[in-house]
Amino acid sequence: MAYIEPAPIKDKENPFESMMFRFHAAAEILGLDDETYEVLKSPSKQIIVNLPITMDDGKKVVFEGYRVIHSDTLGPSKGGIRYDMGVTLDEVKALAAWMTWKCAVVDIPYGGAKGGIRCNPREMSRGELERLTRAYTGAMYDTFGPDQDIPAPDMGTGPQEMAWLMDEYSKAHGKTINGVVTGKPLVLGGSLGRVEATGRGVMVSALVAMEKLKMNPAHSTCAVQGFGNVGNHAAVLLEDRGLKILGISDHTGAYWNDNGIDIRKAIRYREANNFTLEGFDGGEKISNEELLISEVDVLVPAAKEDVITIENAEKIKAKLIVEGANGPTSANADKIIYEKGIQVVPDILANAGGVTVSYFEWVQNRLGYKWTRERVNRRSDRILKEAFEKVFQATIDYNVSMRIASYIVAIRKVADTYNLRGCY
Ligand code: GLU
Repeated sequence: MAYIEPAPIKDKENPFESMMFRFHAAAEILGLDDETYEVLKSPSKQIIVNLPITMDDGKKVVFEGYRVIHSDTLGPSKGGIRYDMGVTLDEVKALAAWMTWKCAVVDIPYGGAKGGIRCNPREMSRGELERLTRAYTGAMYDTFGPDQDIPAPDMGTGPQEMAWLMDEYSKAHGKTINGVVTGKPLVLGGSLGRVEATGRGVMVSALVAMEKLKMNPAHSTCAVQGFGNVGNHAAVLLEDRGLKILGISDHTGAYWNDNGIDIRKAIRYREANNFTLEGFDGGEKISNEELLISEVDVLVPAAKEDVITIENAEKIKAKLIVEGANGPTSANADKIIYEKGIQVVPDILANAGGVTVSYFEWVQNRLGYKWTRERVNRRSDRILKEAFEKVFQATIDYNVSMRIASYIVAIRKVADTYNLRGCY
């Protein structure tokens, strides 16, 4: 398969550069005209807000919050909110663009957005997190809306933050508007299957890829880097399909067991241990770096950006990488991985199960009707399989990697829609 030489960019890429490199490569292959390229390359709106919060000790601390709307060409913009100390405008811009391409790949009627607040949620009390979430929502009253911009959870946030957001937004409008946010708790209009949806999508795309590569799940081993909402559900679902999960990791380190980690035990341990794996005795402790280059058939990076880089790509032994995280492979590392013959199911396809079920949640909120878990799973599995086949076909049609093929499928859809809608 042909490969497009990466432009000589710095060793340490930022996620926005990584995203832009792939966008550029796919746009060139597609022969995208300059005008459309210009429109699609930059976010349509970027908002930065200062959020002063009274902490539990009475001190006031100002947090910086962001919301970037990359595109609303396909519909209202959609994307999660991240609470992490590493949040920067550049990161949120990349993540917002990835949401545009992700929604387009799986063909759901949304544009892309992302939000974030630079904070350490692990060190904040429940009250502090609630005040911060409500302040952020207040600053975004005019941006958010069920037909406008629909947030969801991302790293460091979950159903509780979405509940506060929904409540704050609803109060300001004098009525309950649950379609303004997805990933809510079930009782507030959340969808069955949403919590595990991203992990389930990772499992579904891993299995389709394994079938193409003629890998038997029952004879395959796997390592899952990152054991948050995406990693732990992906691990348990892959384990249920017969893969032996030899290693898992979180921010405290990695855990390895030649006989396979008991994933349910690890999940129970983490839940009882303040959501960390620290001290987990179901495996020997190794470093995160060792886990990434371990001897496994399938590697699932499910934490954050830039973990597979030019530093370690050469040493990766897996035959298949399924990207549960957004942007876990840097653009420079893509080339090394590709030349080693490792198949990659790229992030915008592999982790699209989350936003797909977010879409179902929004549909259910609008209908005022609840779907069964079976219906949610069946429809999201079908959407992901169809998207996988479409991307796979593009690898053949354009003679490119799955990564570039997924961008081609996405950009083609957004560009066609943009040009049909027209521009004044
Ligand atoms: N944060 C998730 C993602 O990156 C989900 C976004 C959503 O459901 O809107 O795909």
